[in-house]
Order: sequence, then C-alpha cells, then structure tokens
Amino acid sequence: MSELIPVLTIDGPTASGKGTVARAVAAALGFHLLDSGAIYRAFALAVLNRKVDQLKINDLEMEAKALSLEFRDDSVWLNGADSTELIRAEAVGMLASKLSAVPEVRAALLARQRAFAQPPGLVGDGRDMGTVVFPDATLKIYLTTTSDVRATRRHRQLEKHASDLSAQTQRDSKAKRLIEKGNSSTIDSSLESFASVEEKIRQRDTQDKTRAVAPLKPAPDAIVIDNAAHGPQQTIDAVLSLWKLRSR
Ligand code: C5P
Repeated sequence: MSELIPVLTIDGPTASGKGTVARAVAAALGFHLLDSGAIYRAFALAVLNRKVDQLKINDLEMEAKALSLEFRDDSVWLNGADSTELIRAEAVGMLASKLSAVPEVRAALLARQRAFAQPPGLVGDGRDMGTVVFPDATLKIYLTTTSDVRATRRHRQLEKHASDLSAQTQRDSKAKRLIEKGNSSTIDSSLESFASVEEKIRQRDTQDKTRAVAPLKPAPDAIVIDNAAHGPQQTIDAVLSLWKLRSR
C-alpha cells in the first residue's frame, strides 16, 4: 500500500523542529500526518499506567499490540482518555526512548504506523520513517540542528507543556490521579533547569542513535537539512520545493 501512496518522511533527533515542519508540510499538501513519536510516547504512558516495576519482553510486546490508541484531530486518546499533554512530558519521552529500543516493541508497532499511508498521501515524522517504516518514500528529509538550539526549543516546549498539563490536570481526573499517586516526579518535568534538559536530550540522542534496531540516522537517500540558521518557515518552504521537484 505504502509504495503506491505518496509518502514524505521527516526524521531527526529530539527537538530538531521536525514536528512543526511535518505538520505544516502535511497541511500544505493536504496529506495525512503520522507523528510516530506520539505512538511510542503513548505506549510508554500505557506502560507507566500499569505501575509495574519490571515488565518482561512478552508483556511489552502484548501491551504494544493491544495499545488502544486513537488520534482525533490534534489530540491523542489512550484507552479512552485524552492523553495529549501527558505524553509530552520529558519523562514519558525518556521511557519511550528506552522502550523503543526493544525490537519486539518496534515490530509490534510497525503495521500501525504503515496503516497511516492513505490517499492522498502521508507525511511521516519520526526517527526511522525513511530507513525502516517507509523505505520506498518519495522524498526523505533528515532534519537536524545544534544541540544548543534543540535544548533551547525543548526547554520552551516543556514550559508550555507544564502550563497545558496543569490545565488538563484540573479537567481530567484520571491524569490528576496519576500525578498524585507519586508519579509527579516522573510525569511532571516542568521545573527542570536548562542544563538538565540539555543533558536529557544528549542521553536520548545517544540512546536513539546507538540502539541495535532502527537507530536514528539519515537514510542513505535522505536530504539532510541543518535548520540552525533558518526559521521554521524557511525549512517548510525548502521541503515543499523539494517535494514539488521530486513528485513531478
Ligand atoms: O519524537 P518524540 O520525541 O516524540 O519521540 C519519543 C521517542 O520515541 C524518541 O526518543 C524515540 O526513542 C522513539 N521513537 C522511535 N521511532 C520513531 C519515533 C519515535 O524510536 N519513529
């Protein structure tokens, strides 16, 4: 299916700007959007919700296969609860990074990701979109920038996340329970210092780049864009121009 449907992949490390670019490019082309990181994050949150210290590979695989996950417009629903803000916590991202290194987990989540390739086309955002999930994509972009710029962006995102999360916590009693039940230090990473955010980005990059299965790296046929010196709009325009050329 994915071979016949136009697919544009955008891979890159944490806070490289790929989410913003992927969303805008998908909107401009009228394509579907796959935020594959949200799937790994939702899976990590599902594992956290189980409150089990040690899960065997078999359990993880079963949990990944059974994941009840729905994307509705801009929100992410896990087991019937709006988990849009909860999955954005840095601690959830960290756990997602650890769990996503388990080959059985990646295999269990693969078909779910490929199913997003539907007419008229798809923009896939992640770490292995061009290398593993959509190896035949029409255009593959690898977005990167300096770790300094990424840490600054991530710190800002986390500040926003903190205020959104506190708004959601007041609305959503389930989220409130989760935070009250001793998960606050794991889930609510809102008050982290810049240095700590920078260190976590470094750790997550190392985990994602050095794992044995689907490590973060540009596909051999990817176009690498370093957006350190560009604003998001310039990067979006560049990707759209490349798409125009490639899809002719
Ligand atoms: O992109 P985001 O930060 O939301 O992803 C969370 C984590 O999920 C990443 O650090 C990475 O380990 C994992 N991930 C992955 N493959 C993808 C997307 C995300 O392994 N395609």
